[in-house]
Amino acid sequence: MGHVFSLFSEHTIKTRLQLWISAIILVLAFSIIVPFYFIEKSNRLDEARVQLKQVIALQNLSIERWNQEKLDAIKRFALSDNAKFHRIGDLQREFQDYAKVNSEFYSITFVEPDGNIRTDTTSIYVGDRLYYKLGKEKQSYVSGIVMSRENGNPVITFSSPVLGDQGEFKGIVLGVVTLEMLNKLIARLSFGDTGEVYVLDAEGNIVTASNRSENDTNTQRATSEIYHRAVTNSTDYSAYIGFCGENVYGQYQWSPTKNWLVVGEITQGEIFRKLNALSITIIVISLIALLLSVAAAVMIASKIERPIRYLLRATKIIQKGNYDYQINVDKIRTAPVELRQLVATFNLMSDRLKSNISLLEHSAWMDQLTDVHNRRYMMLEGNKQLHMCIISGQTCSVLMMDIDHFKKINDTYGHLVGDGVLHHVASILKRYAGNDAIVARYGGEEFILLLLRKDAQESAALAEELRNILIDEPFIKESLAVKITTSIGVAEYSPTLEYGTMVLEDMVSRADHALYRAKSGGRNRVVVDTKRLYDEEDHV
Ligand code: GH3
Ligand code: MG
Ligand code: MG
Repeated sequence: MGHVFSLFSEHTIKTRLQLWISAIILVLAFSIIVPFYFIEKSNRLDEARVQLKQVIALQNLSIERWNQEKLDAIKRFALSDNAKFHRIGDLQREFQDYAKVNSEFYSITFVEPDGNIRTDTTSIYVGDRLYYKLGKEKQSYVSGIVMSRENGNPVITFSSPVLGDQGEFKGIVLGVVTLEMLNKLIARLSFGDTGEVYVLDAEGNIVTASNRSENDTNTQRATSEIYHRAVTNSTDYSAYIGFCGENVYGQYQWSPTKNWLVVGEITQGEIFRKLNALSITIIVISLIALLLSVAAAVMIASKIERPIRYLLRATKIIQKGNYDYQINVDKIRTAPVELRQLVATFNLMSDRLKSNISLLEHSAWMDQLTDVHNRRYMMLEGNKQLHMCIISGQTCSVLMMDIDHFKKINDTYGHLVGDGVLHHVASILKRYAGNDAIVARYGGEEFILLLLRKDAQESAALAEELRNILIDEPFIKESLAVKITTSIGVAEYSPTLEYGTMVLEDMVSRADHALYRAKSGGRNRVVVDTKRLYDEEDHV
């Protein structure tokens, strides 16, 4: 069970929909076809049974009537005066006249009381026949199949005794019918395409032959099953190998005299032909429905899946840093409304994300009070720029600037004015430091400037210039003007580090020391770090 679910978990929306829809349709089709097939099958069998019963009952009746007719004709001859008084010549003429209108007898003959049939030329002894013995006991008789003494063909005999006035036995009138006669009768009552009716005698010999099968050796074996059922009075109705060697269903009926057994058979194929055709039609329709549903599932799935695919891709793009990525809504116009809303919300979110992230980035790198970069930015971006300069063989410098007696400004005018002074100083630094400078607030009232491609001398000059500008441009608020002086330490890049492990760190430390010296030297001045100078002196 577990691996069935894991099988499903790998699947996309599309394959899941396909799988479920196929499964539902297959189960539905199966639950319709199977009960339908079995109910219809038993209906068809019942129908066939009823039909067979009717046909053989009818057949039995007509055979019985036909028998009776033949026997009656023979009886009439036996009762005639010509027979009674042995006027054989006249009797023969009577037979011939009858034969002209009724051709069903192969022959009608007179059996002498001694058991001989005499013609002009021959004499055939039939004294050992059953009909002769019965005739002597004054009984009429219709035989089963007997072999003709005359020509060896299977025949049926109809016999009736001729009796004298005192009831004494005076011979037998014998009618012989060949099987073809009976066949013709039976053939009139065939039914369906494969329906077969035939007659067996009491011993199970076939009396009538089908016109569909010539009397072959299989016939005897094939009919033994239904004969066996008839003899044992079985109610078994299962299929068996029939008269023509095919699988058939059969019914039997004994004639009233138990002389004949009428059997009706119809092939399994014919009974179920229509049912099978119908079942195949239903299966084909189900398959078509299955195909259509799967196609529909694919369509629905692609409408659902496509926006999800776009969303998935968009989230990956955003993950890579392209924060304002927008999904093209024109491509999912036909998607379900919820998914379109989802995509619209997604687009709105990525839009906000972009502005929020740039805001965050800005505030992460900037000092909010003074609107110049912060220390963090200097240590990252400044370091990067510094290294690029060094690699290209150019030098750089750092200025550390501290406002003199800033505490006093705060104390005198309040912190708000102090803040204004900080912002004022920062804006002057930005304005005059030049494009090759990165200006940052280092902390409190200290600023740091990284001057790219400037040596100590040029930097000291710029520091001097800035210090003077600040003196010339005091912070002015309403009627108030706050004079500002600053102290600045300058340090140029040196390949040998004195402090820390990073070049910028080393430069900042050295600039800080220079600033300290500027402070202790009386403030409002620029001091250049001397390490570089010593280095050069060493070389001299
Ligand atoms: P020096 O000449 O030796 O530098 O003296 P100073 O008074 O400038 O130095 P000190 O370090 O004693 O004082 C710095 C003052 O700066 C103390 C602190 O209250 C003030 N300060 C630091 N950050 C801010 C700020 O963001 N706004 C305001 N208004 N004041 C600040
Ligand atoms: Mg300070
Ligand atoms: Mg200060």
